[in-house]
Amino acid sequence: MTNPVVAIVGRPNVGKSTIFNRIVGERISIVEDVPGVTRDRIYSSAEWLNHQFYLIDTGGIDIGDEPLLVQIRQQAEIAIDEADVIIFMTNGRDGVTAADEEVAKILHRSNKPVVLAVNKIDNPEMRDLIYDFYALGFGDPYPISGAHGTGLGDLLDAVVRHFPKRGQEEYEEDVIKFCLIGRPNVGKSSLVNAILGEERVIVSDIAGTTRDAVDTSFVREGQEYVIIDTAGMRKRGKIYESTEKYSVLRALKAIERSDVVLVVLNAEEGIIEQDKKIAGYAHEAGRGVIIVVNKWDAIEKDDKTLIEFERKIRDHFPFLDYAPILFVSAKTKQRLHKLLPLVRMVSENHAMRVQTNVLNEVIMDAVAMNPTPTHNGRRLKIYYMTQVAVKPPTFVVFVNDPELMHFSYERFLENRIRDAFGFEGTPIKIIARPRK
Ligand code: GDP
Ligand code: GDP
Repeated sequence: MTNPVVAIVGRPNVGKSTIFNRIVGERISIVEDVPGVTRDRIYSSAEWLNHQFYLIDTGGIDIGDEPLLVQIRQQAEIAIDEADVIIFMTNGRDGVTAADEEVAKILHRSNKPVVLAVNKIDNPEMRDLIYDFYALGFGDPYPISGAHGTGLGDLLDAVVRHFPKRGQEEYEEDVIKFCLIGRPNVGKSSLVNAILGEERVIVSDIAGTTRDAVDTSFVREGQEYVIIDTAGMRKRGKIYESTEKYSVLRALKAIERSDVVLVVLNAEEGIIEQDKKIAGYAHEAGRGVIIVVNKWDAIEKDDKTLIEFERKIRDHFPFLDYAPILFVSAKTKQRLHKLLPLVRMVSENHAMRVQTNVLNEVIMDAVAMNPTPTHNGRRLKIYYMTQVAVKPPTFVVFVNDPELMHFSYERFLENRIRDAFGFEGTPIKIIARPRK
């Protein structure tokens, strides 16, 4: 199941991005620092009382040169479309403004749960300022202060109360779910059509899935696959297509529902910043990843072109060094027959479990070969490693002091595990814990 999405809407300067940073701040600082990944601050995963969700600051969505009121309106509409719960933010010091009323009108027309926040209530004496906001018709306004971080607990309690109840898994465990992500025009829909070919496909609109997701399921060589729809594959209204950040959000939701993500590049155009951002999300989500270079028919090639392109990809996406690369053409179907077997292999690796005793043999051999690092005269001691999860494979290593586990040593252990067991196409997580 995909995590709920919470969107913050409201006119400029009410404090949306301040609150956004407050809510996700702590989380941002604990996620690993992936080189080459530019973090987009308009949305992030967040957590409150064991509820995981995505938070979007619609104020950061770039709508272009439209008049302010049009932008606010479009942001509200995006929130209605994408979010499960909306935080409608206002500024207590300004009272209710015409723009607030405009947003309220749009939100009232939707059936989405709305939690009304009145920001900049920096001290208890200011609490009386919230009463005017009852007039907006969203029940109790929640007084908050982005400056001091007060009131956020009550606000988030109200937000999580509206989260949809967790349903059952959408598909059987052995179905392989994958999606294609990439900039517009790299050839995602052409690839999907080429993969599906003449086969009769079942396009399903399964209840309980993301409202506008259309999944396509099909069987190939006895294996059932589902292609999860992403932005750019189905053409929608112009705001949706023209708003780059918005389509990245849609891609993010598809990634979340997939086992394997195909990051599609365009051989004709090479690699640009937006590709890196998109690839970064696939990596961070912990899904299996395959890099697909499409339109291979469209460029002039000699015997070095492929190797050079491959090197460029490795340079630009160092965090995806585990991802296989496939050069294809949706147009001529070159190498397309290799794609699904690769998806299947990566999906199997993503779900692979290794035996604890074999794992520990590998780790002890590794330590014997390359002694553990020391810091201030203290040496890292490794006692034991065990795999605690799949999708992605996650290992806990028990040590004397996790602080002594240097990034480069962790990387070394990861590579030893990869050499011993495969795991091509999937990220691996290693967590150091102190032995009790
Ligand atoms: P946004 O345009 O809605 O994203 O608003 P910002 O988060 O950029 O905030 C606009 C301004 O209000 C900034 O100068 C913030 O420092 C300030 N601000 C945000 N929250 C508070 C608050 O709780 N109290 C006060 N006094 N100022 C705040
Ligand atoms: P999407 O926006 O990523 O879904 O891209 P489309 O599938 O709509 O393709 C964008 C354009 O690229 C279309 O004009 C396609 O005909 C063209 N295209 C897609 N795949 C290939 C390919 O392998 N080779 C060539 N030469 N053109 C392609």
